[in-house]
Amino acid sequence: MREIYEQLGISSQVYDFGREIEETLKDRFAEFDKIAEYNQMKVLLAMQKNKVSEECFHSSSGYGYSDYGRDTLEKVYADAFHTEACLVRPQIACGTHALAIALFGNLRPGDEMLSPAGKPYDTLEEVIGIRPSKGSLAEYGITYRQVDLLADGTFDYENIKKAINDKTRLVAIQRSKGYQTRPSFSVKQIGELIAFVKGIKPDVICMVDNCYGEFVDTIEPSDVGADMMVGSLIKNPGGGLAPIGGYIAGTKECVENASYRMTCPGLGMEVGATLGVNRSFYQGFFLAPMVTKGALKGAVFAANVYERLGFAVVPNSTEPRQDIIQAVTLGTPEGVIAFCKGIQAAAPVDSYVDPEPWDMPGYDSQVIMAAGAFVQGSSIELSADGPMKPPYAVYFQGGLTWEHAKLGILMSLQKLVDAGILSKEKLV
Ligand SMILES: *Cc1c(COP(=O)(O)O)cnc(C)c1O
Repeated sequence: MREIYEQLGISSQVYDFGREIEETLKDRFAEFDKIAEYNQMKVLLAMQKNKVSEECFHSSSGYGYSDYGRDTLEKVYADAFHTEACLVRPQIACGTHALAIALFGNLRPGDEMLSPAGKPYDTLEEVIGIRPSKGSLAEYGITYRQVDLLADGTFDYENIKKAINDKTRLVAIQRSKGYQTRPSFSVKQIGELIAFVKGIKPDVICMVDNCYGEFVDTIEPSDVGADMMVGSLIKNPGGGLAPIGGYIAGTKECVENASYRMTCPGLGMEVGATLGVNRSFYQGFFLAPMVTKGALKGAVFAANVYERLGFAVVPNSTEPRQDIIQAVTLGTPEGVIAFCKGIQAAAPVDSYVDPEPWDMPGYDSQVIMAAGAFVQGSSIELSADGPMKPPYAVYFQGGLTWEHAKLGILMSLQKLVDAGILSKEKLV
């Protein structure tokens, strides 16, 4: 084993250090195995119940009327997530698009949207119009209100109550912290928040941005009262095989409303050819619990490796997991660059290129990104990125297999050692 790792560029010191840490994680990993086993059965049950057959993998073109595979897959998703309906479509370009469809489809001029758990994901700022933007909800007369989290990262129930008014039509809750420093929310916490909101205004729509959260727990936000749950297929539920797509699962009414925005009024979910992606959507969803498990093991391994070496990590080495994102504060620009170079060097694709910081549109500092993915931008595949500004943290996620995630982390460590940022003496 040591030899094959050496051929990949991992020194025996780094290898041994990793092996020792891995030994300490047996119980943690066994927990993830159990969750994945449960979720695998959940997905299988939904596939069997809906009689998934060879016919489901056929392709449609043009309007895509009566695409049996597409319609059956949507029933599979709905059953697995315990919702009345679901849209699962290649026409949904990404997670932000799925969220925008869900919002535009369910809000009307004069309505107000409330974010009771602080600022939403960056790209949603323009959808909502927090940052003025052409075609935003704000331009259509939909107002926005936000209640920030309390200093300890919990919900500010008192001010949430005050913020709910006659106009409040939809409450949006983001499960994963994304690239913020707040903690990610557990499904249980989300359920408590939804119950609180519904206690004040029963007919308000509760939408959860479930990106990066699918299959991390045995329950999903849809099991605790969410009317709508939204995510990207190039994250967890696509299992690494979906080449594009997003989903919106929820009540029949919410999903139907969203469908009229996804295509157009009158047509809704009746149209939308699948152009040959059905098989990868099914197979990806089938594998998704296992792929998510691998990514979780990688995240916990990274937290333990870097915490042991004295770096700040969020979540820390022992905290329960709510999503697959791991933040590591390297503290220096050189550290961030070396870490990302390691992730890149461990990739199955483009392993020979070196990532460099660049001026990415929409960011106020340079950003470095490492990814050698089969699907462009797929963040269920092993990837890391970090803004080149204090505190010099990298956000790391994914890995289609635990073994690959492990190599990525060992390689990041190797690059830190090779660059002289981390002394070999620390690896004991
Ligand atoms: C990834 C993500 C999104 C959507 O991002 P896309 O890049 O458009 O797919 C939204 N919210 C959260 C929390 C995410 O992690």
